[in-house]
Amino acid sequence: MLNCKETSELASRSLDTKLSLHEHARLLIHLAACKLCRRYLLQLRFMQRAIAKQRRAVSTSLDPQLPAQARKRIQAEIDKHR
Ligand SMILES: [Zn+2]
Repeated sequence: MLNCKETSELASRSLDTKLSLHEHARLLIHLAACKLCRRYLLQLRFMQRAIAKQRRAVSTSLDPQLPAQARKRIQAEIDKHR
């Protein structure tokens, strides 16, 4: 069984990439037994949603008075850092 450090790394990676079936199973087994890691994963997901929400808010708040090219350049820069 994974230890908590390995689980936290896997949980973090699971937010960005699709885990293999084997990795996913190992993660689930550890999470079933470890309340702290379940809580950690919930916090990671919460932060990921909050960051995504903030980025959407920034991108939709671009001044409509800006020339289309400027809005496009700013949006491209925002998207580059997602
Ligand atoms: Zn754990």
